Amino acid sequence: SNNLSIKGKGIAPSITLEINAKAKSMRDSGLDVLDFGVGEPDFITPENIRNEAIEAINKGLTKYTPASGILELKKAICKKFKNDNNLLYNPSNIIVSNGAKHSIYNALMAIINPGDEVIIGVPYWVSYPELVRLTDGVPIYIYTREENNFKFSVDDLERVKTKKTKAIILNSPNNPTGAVYNEEELKGIADWAINNNVFVISDEIYEKLIYDDAKHISIASFNDNIKKISIIINGMSKAYAMTGWRIGYTAADDEIIKVMSNIQSHTTSNPNSISQYASVEALEGNQDSIEYMRKHFEHRRNTLYNGINEIGGLSCKLPEGSFYIMVNFSDLAGKTFQGMKINNSVDFANLLLEYANVAVVPGEAFGIDRYVRFSYATSIENIEKGIKRIKTTIEG
Ligand code: PLP
Repeated sequence: SNNLSIKGKGIAPSITLEINAKAKSMRDSGLDVLDFGVGEPDFITPENIRNEAIEAINKGLTKYTPASGILELKKAICKKFKNDNNLLYNPSNIIVSNGAKHSIYNALMAIINPGDEVIIGVPYWVSYPELVRLTDGVPIYIYTREENNFKFSVDDLERVKTKKTKAIILNSPNNPTGAVYNEEELKGIADWAINNNVFVISDEIYEKLIYDDAKHISIASFNDNIKKISIIINGMSKAYAMTGWRIGYTAADDEIIKVMSNIQSHTTSNPNSISQYASVEALEGNQDSIEYMRKHFEHRRNTLYNGINEIGGLSCKLPEGSFYIMVNFSDLAGKTFQGMKINNSVDFANLLLEYANVAVVPGEAFGIDRYVRFSYATSIENIEKGIKRIKTTIEG
């Protein structure tokens, strides 16, 4: 209708949610749908964290907290940055928000003026362009290529920069590609950002999910100049299987954090008090569960990677992080399977859903169309079963 907000109406519906809804209705009708669409660990939140939350409830730690988060948690986050990333922050450099998505939104709210440009690599995490638009910024895309492991370079940045360039969003390890930027690549990007006075919003939410010899390095850790213009986003969701608890956090220059805190204080107030106390335990308690989950993800990644590459017409590269693989189906485009012509990634995802009962996310959701995204946050049994069904659907 005409009297609704132009900005609100301009926000795209989530393709991910549409496929999920279709998969759910198939499941409800009794079909065994294998879900490779999920964006969350399938593990339960570790016991020590759950217990701490129960204790917080029983102690009555159920009231408002400071809007930007409790000091104990900010201190635990500072310790994490020091130990894991060699980054020295004070509590005044930290704000805790309702999940990393909320952290990114507040960060953009704090730095974007109408028309400011934010550089985003394609394929991108679905929410980046919409968050930029919601905050009156303009997304500027760099189309990366599989041959370059879906990473952008300083040359790419140089090509798209304008006077209005305000920030880059960097996401390593990456959703949806699993790409991990190495030290040399990050140093190049850092120098470019310093020379061009462009903020780097570095989404490091998949930091702990990293495989083989890959190493996570925070871009802010090279020197004080890059640290000053870096906005580091992280959170509890992926590392600690805490997606439903809604705790994300940001580390940045204290002026940025002050603006973000003011915005947050009038919009959402503090993140859930119980989740904050549980997050202190997550960060300071025993960390063995992280390695336990990481090892499982690594084994699943290998199984999925090998299985996909054995199916005629499909291929993928071995990703170094997160829990996703982009699968290239371009050799099948234009062909017909089970009476369905494959023109684009939505067609291919529909073929897999309807004939293999395998749910994946079409690349279109991430801005590229000859790929679908598989999540391996599912069991080895499901991965093996899914591979067999896809093979039968495609190879007959
Ligand atoms: N950033 C990326 C790249 C993600 O994939 C996700 C979740 O899917 C998030 C941020 C948001 O995480 P949270 O659950 O903390 O909001």
